[in-house]
Amino acid sequence: MTVHHNDLNNESMNSMTSPARSKQEDKSVNEQSLGGEFVDYPHCNSCDPLTATFQRVVINGLSRDENNPYDLFHALALSVKEQMMHDWRRTRFEDIQAQRKQVAYLSLEFLMGRALGNTLLNLGLTEEAEQVVQQYRVDLAQLETLEHDAGLGNGGLGRLAACFLDSCACMDLPVTGYGIRYEYGMFTQKIVNGYQVEQADRWLKGGHPWDVIAPNHNVLVPFYGRCEVHVDHEGRQHHTWVDTQDVIAVAYDVPVPGYRNNRVNTLRLWKAQATEGFDLEEFNQGDYTEAVAYKNLAEQITMVLYPNDSSENGKELRLRQQYFLSSASLQDILNTWVKNHGRDFTDFSRLNVMQLNDTHPAIAVPELMRLLMDHYALGWNEAWKITSGCMAYTNHTLLPEALECWPVRMFELILPRILEIVYEINARYLNLVAHHWPGDSDKLTQMSIIDNTGEPTIRMAYLAIVASFSVNGVAGLHTQLLKSGLFQQFYALWPDKFNNKTNGVTPRRWLAFSNPRLARLLDQKLGEQWIEDLTLLQGLKDFLNEDAFLQEWREIKKQNKVDLVTLIKKECSVDFDPEMLFDVQVKRIHEYKRQLLNILHVIHLYQKVLKGNVDNMVPRCVLIAGKAAPGYAMAKLIVKLANNVAEMVNSEPLMQPYLRFAFLPNYNVTAMEKICPATDLSEQISTAGKEASGTGNMKFMMNGALTIGTLDGANIEILEAVGDDAFFLFGMNAEEVDHLRPHYQPQQFIESSSELFDVLTLLKSGHFNLLEPGIFDPIIYAIESSDEPWMTAADFESFRCAQQAVAQTYLDKKRWAQLSIRNTASSGGFSSDATIAAYRDDIWHV
Ligand SMILES: *Cc1c(COP(=O)(O)O)cnc(C)c1O
Repeated sequence: MTVHHNDLNNESMNSMTSPARSKQEDKSVNEQSLGGEFVDYPHCNSCDPLTATFQRVVINGLSRDENNPYDLFHALALSVKEQMMHDWRRTRFEDIQAQRKQVAYLSLEFLMGRALGNTLLNLGLTEEAEQVVQQYRVDLAQLETLEHDAGLGNGGLGRLAACFLDSCACMDLPVTGYGIRYEYGMFTQKIVNGYQVEQADRWLKGGHPWDVIAPNHNVLVPFYGRCEVHVDHEGRQHHTWVDTQDVIAVAYDVPVPGYRNNRVNTLRLWKAQATEGFDLEEFNQGDYTEAVAYKNLAEQITMVLYPNDSSENGKELRLRQQYFLSSASLQDILNTWVKNHGRDFTDFSRLNVMQLNDTHPAIAVPELMRLLMDHYALGWNEAWKITSGCMAYTNHTLLPEALECWPVRMFELILPRILEIVYEINARYLNLVAHHWPGDSDKLTQMSIIDNTGEPTIRMAYLAIVASFSVNGVAGLHTQLLKSGLFQQFYALWPDKFNNKTNGVTPRRWLAFSNPRLARLLDQKLGEQWIEDLTLLQGLKDFLNEDAFLQEWREIKKQNKVDLVTLIKKECSVDFDPEMLFDVQVKRIHEYKRQLLNILHVIHLYQKVLKGNVDNMVPRCVLIAGKAAPGYAMAKLIVKLANNVAEMVNSEPLMQPYLRFAFLPNYNVTAMEKICPATDLSEQISTAGKEASGTGNMKFMMNGALTIGTLDGANIEILEAVGDDAFFLFGMNAEEVDHLRPHYQPQQFIESSSELFDVLTLLKSGHFNLLEPGIFDPIIYAIESSDEPWMTAADFESFRCAQQAVAQTYLDKKRWAQLSIRNTASSGGFSSDATIAAYRDDIWHV
């Protein structure tokens, strides 16, 4: 069954764009929304203190049951949201009035985590909230733990989007995040008998107090159907996409408050809803199930986040998610434009920019062309000038398995009109390529947006590059490699498009909120300004030789470790000791991130202790956490290995004084808030050239951890900022990796390191899998295989030596504290405020 675009007469669809809407209508809308003053209601909610708002919420029964702690959390969140409503409304109004350029940050992922604590911090309401809930004899920290993480992302890419939103609001920038309101976010990871087990993340089950539904922003997103061409009396072609099955996109707005600056930006999350009722005729003919099935098909779109980090599985539903987000967001942006400027798009690309977070929303390129041509009757050239004037693309990875290529036949079926436009973009662009490299037909094949070498596919990265005025990588090395490798030919064609924007993390969440003990010390020593200007942390270097300060620094780290010990005891039943070195690797489980190298090193330490070789050994607690994509067998096996090795280590009494090892289940934002303030040593040990940037590395550095790492991603910039005596560097660099690749012989490395040889011998003996013989064979096979892409064996010896240097350094408590302070002091450049300032100045020009 089909629901036609024009069949709908739904009152809530009043902002739907339709080419039939008359100029007059636009004008009246225009007059309604402009020219008014902002009405500052005299008794607005946020004029009341939080206490008063909360009382009203309780009196009105909105708290549900205030004796139930979860309901109390809910009531507090509702009250805090109300406090923001006035500024939220005003921010929206003023941005439109001021005719400032608007930025749309388009992302399939926003890994927000919890909101309550961070929101209170940004609004400066933490103390008042503490007092409010004290009347119910609960403390705020306890209530905060009842909030479910908004896990609408996989890892670094999604968390970057969240950090960027915070920085944009803090820096008073008119930036709207556009994403999907997945019913189920990132799965919950359980560990059963050492294996990862995934559970659905029903994060909305207790209600979501933060969002506000905005039905006046509903739009229709078309799917399937077919294309028609009409020629008008002047001989011009008009394309239409007919017999579509439309899905309603419903806007859920989440407030994004700045840091004590009265700005509240918006994260607009779209939810899919079947069009009003079903086809009644079909219903009356008794095909009720068919009708309901259609409803499910529509609402399926926003049901679940795809749990793949740095890989794509090419599922049709994923493409529908991408188009749904892109189309809904662009229609929304165009509706706002038409409301305020009428149908004159002359200034559109001067006043709008869309930042594409990877190629996931790259389908926005042909979609904007379609909307401008088919809905607003612009010609190709005009539409292209606008589209290519406002699209900017951020690349996040060089891994081939993560580069999106959609089968043409999938587009043919789901998005036939979009396919026509992609073909036309490609034809015109290849014309340009042919002019640039006359007679070079290989170039045309290599650079074509359509890959015809096998089953025809659309290379989404190429589409994004062709249409964008800016293409950026996310760390210096990564951008360098894009220019010299993956996108080399595009760099030759358009050198000016390419630029670097090294990632960053927000100091509000990752320092002020996560590490209140350290934040208090920074306030005392540096004043409170550091939170908005993180370069002020440099001032810590003045205290490097004050023993009392070093003492205080170490005491804070110790207290943070005590907190983490409690968590690890509760979740893993493993006893960590805060006096020991905390050696931590937490991130998605992926072969390129080389958790395996870390585990091999743990096995080596285990053997050392077993042999009684413990002179000068520094007692260590090793922590690994992270989720494996459910379809990634090798990553899941690495999780199992970590758990089995941990079991053996922790059950051996000889290890107690020297080595403890835990795998913490369900790594997420909330876990990281506890982990990074308590870490001594941050493991950033990816194969050089594979980690685009990393952001976990920055959170750790900010919180005073030292890094053991390869010359990869932003590690290089961290090393530069802190100095090589405060960073444990090891392993091959990206160039050496490339040179070794063709003649890599792991056996050479295994034979030349008796330590690695012993580790592999023990692993092969089945010592860690006595009850499940053979299960780790794929891991052993990979390590010994000459085409193992991550070259784990090659870097083992260098890693082991760097770990010895770590231990040696840790023995000198004073020196370690000084190096720790220098790490925090040098982390100012990795604030996402610095990153966003660069986006603002070089790309967005707002
Ligand atoms: C910061 C963060 C990441 C990214 O970590 P990397 O080490 O850069 O891969 C992933 N997941 C969560 C929950 C994070 O907070």
